[in-house]
Parts: sequence; structure tokens; C-alpha cells
Amino acid sequence: MEQHIVVGFGGIYSAYTVHELKKTIAPEAIKLFFVDLFSDISEEPLYINNAQFMVDVATKLEVELVNVDLSKSLERKLDTNLAENIAFKLSSFAEQVTGRYDNLSKVTIHFPATPHYLKGQNKISVESVEYEWADTYEVRELFDKLLPQVNVVFSLEDFAEEINIKATIQEKWELELPRSERKRVHIAMFSGGAGSAYVSYYMVQAYGKENCKLFFTNTLWEDEDNLRFMDEVSEYIGLEITEILDGRTPEEVFYDMRYLGNSRLAKCSEELKVRQTLIYLEELRDNEKVEPILYFGIAPHEKHRRDDSHVKRRENNVEENSADMNIRKAAGIRSFYSHFPIEPIETRFPLIETLREDIDAKGIIKYEWGISLPRMYTAAVEAAKIEDNVLAQKLVEKGINGFSHANCGGRCVRGGFQHYATLYAIWPDQYKEQEEMENRFREHFEKNVSILKKNGGSYTLKQYREDMEADGVEKYLFQADDTIPCVCSFS
Ligand code: SF4
Repeated sequence: MEQHIVVGFGGIYSAYTVHELKKTIAPEAIKLFFVDLFSDISEEPLYINNAQFMVDVATKLEVELVNVDLSKSLERKLDTNLAENIAFKLSSFAEQVTGRYDNLSKVTIHFPATPHYLKGQNKISVESVEYEWADTYEVRELFDKLLPQVNVVFSLEDFAEEINIKATIQEKWELELPRSERKRVHIAMFSGGAGSAYVSYYMVQAYGKENCKLFFTNTLWEDEDNLRFMDEVSEYIGLEITEILDGRTPEEVFYDMRYLGNSRLAKCSEELKVRQTLIYLEELRDNEKVEPILYFGIAPHEKHRRDDSHVKRRENNVEENSADMNIRKAAGIRSFYSHFPIEPIETRFPLIETLREDIDAKGIIKYEWGISLPRMYTAAVEAAKIEDNVLAQKLVEKGINGFSHANCGGRCVRGGFQHYATLYAIWPDQYKEQEEMENRFREHFEKNVSILKKNGGSYTLKQYREDMEADGVEKYLFQADDTIPCVCSFS
């Protein structure tokens, strides 16, 4: 009996090839061989459930599934233009075919290939029409050498029927698409930062606004000028803001948790931002059947960028052991979204990984887009000008024009000594509000807790203010904090 092997890489075209073959060939004569090209070469969360998809397809279409043992490969050097890892894996597959069938001249191997009406190129599509990995000529040439007796075809290559394969698989077969095949939605994490504003613009230019979202989790402590900035950026980009609201302020979260957020642990960020984001993303997957990709506006740390201006972009990888604190933070965010959601979510950091190293997001937004930056970035400059504030002038002289991040109106509980000294110097009323908030919590719960810590113990904003007033604020203004900024500061 003639035997038909469909080579499956975990995508929809191999699945549909099996379906088409079954119209004329008995299921016993069809085998779906799963060749996993990606699991060991990519940490991309997109590829995690292609193997399960192959199992689902084989079960649904009632054909035998054969998992190719990729530990085997031909030892001789392969004469091919295909990428080496792909060529070796295909050679493992060829070995298994040889071991399994006595009469190779009765075997036909069907490779999946994107139908021409979907893409005019002669490529094999592994995952979707968005990606190609080899052209059919190279694969045919390799198999002419490896298995010359076998008939190699690209079954869908000339497939003329205009059919929505994804819809067929989802709606008629009632199977979940593998994540690599789901429609992508590109989501910029946006709360008024200049970096995230620029990344949002880049994202929309690259993928089109119909495939993008501007995502904002409102903590209700946001500075009103941040909201103005966000509206103007949203209008400039031409994309509405998707705003998600827990409904509580950080202070209300502290009461609910009976725990005052501080420089080490900020439940407000977890509750108001991270949790809301995860809920939103899971709902997108469930309700709209799309696969989110998150974009963050984290840039390499300014100092690191200056010191290492000779370092090439490719060395700016998102790595946990990077010398740059911001890059370490990006690695932490990537790790979080790889492990914490129900299924991993892809994260992108264009200012670290993709875009030119010297992008001046703030300058572009201000001078090219004509949008004033949130006043928090320039609060020291304004204070120095209008109020003749000596401290503010000193800040400006030292190159500190405002707050280093624009979230929660300068009241971030992750801020350290320098941050709160800056708040006191620029916006003393806001400092006072935070001092009162801290005091209310202490009195309500009768706990000796504080936002700042000194010598491992409690050190209230009132004590800090009194120390600043006694010693002179300047003493505290220019000592850099060694706290790691919260996730909120990158959106
Ligand atoms: S910016 Fe700071 S205070 Fe605001 S939610 Fe984030 S961690 Fe909490």
C-alpha cells in the first residue's frame, strides 16, 4: 500500500494537509510526523504548545502521530543551504522514515507549504503566514540527497481554494489553535512615560493601529498632567487608550492588605497594575482568541548608555546579569510574564533590543510631535523658574529637571530618600499629603511602619522631613538611591 507522511511542525498547514489527504486516502495510510523545530532553540513563549496541537490534530483527524526523535541525526556533513539546526532535524526525520518503511519507493512525504493565495512566495511556513523558514527548493534538494527513492510533495502549494484554515480548525474541528497561529495583538504598557509613548508610536507604525492597543492601568494617584500627556499622545498616534481601573487608590490597597507599601514591597503595584493587567490579558485570550505581545518603554540606563556608547546594540540583550539596572529590570519583567500568566506572554523592549541606541524619546516627543512632556519630568525646572526656589535651581544645575518617573504623582512608595527629598524640594504639598497618608495608616493600625526604612527599622516621612529641615535638604538631594524602581516606572 502507498504510504503518506505529513511532516508537521506544529502549525496549521500540516494539519490542513492531513485533512486534504483524507479526502482521497485512507487514514491508515497517513501518518503525521511531528518534527519539533523550535522547542530547544527558542525561548519564545509563542512556541510552547505546538506539540499539543499536533496531538489534538492527530486525534481529531484519526491518523497516527509519530514524534520524531530529534536526538538522532546523520553524522555526515549535510550539503545544503538550509540552516544547520533545521537540516539536522530533518535528517533525523529522514532516518526514522528509512527505519520504518521497507519500500521507500511507495512512500510520499508531504511538506506543509503556505498556499499561494495566502503568500506568493515559494516558502514552507512552519508557524503561520507571518513566518517562513526555508524555501521549497532547498528542502526538495536535501531530500533528493537523503531519500532519493521517496516522492516529496508540497501538498498545499498549489491549493487554489480560498479557505480560512484557522477558522476551519477553530470552528469546524473545534480545536484550540497553537499560540503561534493565533492573531497577535500588540499592547503598549502606557502610563505617561516618555519611553513608553515612543514605543507605542513605534509599535503602531510597525503593526498598524488595528492590531495594537495602548494599555493604561490607572492607580487614581496619577498626576493630572500625565492624563493630559497620555491623551495627546493617544491622539497623535491615532489610537484610543484602553484604560483599566481597579477602583482603589494605593492607600486603599494598603488598608485592605493591612500592609503599608514601602521601598521593598509595594502591593499597590501588584494589585492595581500587575493583577489588572493579567486579568485583562487572559480575557483577551479567552474572549477575542488573540495572543498578546507586551511592549515596554524601558531604555538602557542613561549613565550606562553614556559610559558604553561604543557598545553595539546587539550587546544590549535583556539579561538578568546585565551591569545595567534597567536591563536587569527588563529581564525580570520578561521572566515574570514568561512564568506567571496561565500561559507565557511574549514581552518586547524595543528601546533595548530593536531601536537605535541613541533614540532621544523625550526630545522627539517634545520637538517633533509638539507635545509637552508630563510636568513631572520638568517639575524642577518649573519650580526653579516660577518660585525662585533655590533647591529647585540646584537640582536643575545638577541636571535633575524633575522626577525620574512619572507615576503616581511623585508619591510612589518605592521611591527612596533622594526621591522624597526631591518631592519635598519641588512639591512640598504633595510630600505633606504622603506624610499624612503614612501617619493615618500608622494610627489606624497602631503599627510602627513607614515607607522609608533606616538602619533596618521604621523611619517616617515626618522624621525625614524634620531631619531635612534640620540638616538642610541639599544634604539629601544628591545621594542616589540604590532602590530598584518599581515596574510602574516603566510604563
Ligand atoms: S507607582 Fe509606586 S505607589 Fe504607584 S502603584 Fe506603582 S509602586 Fe505603587
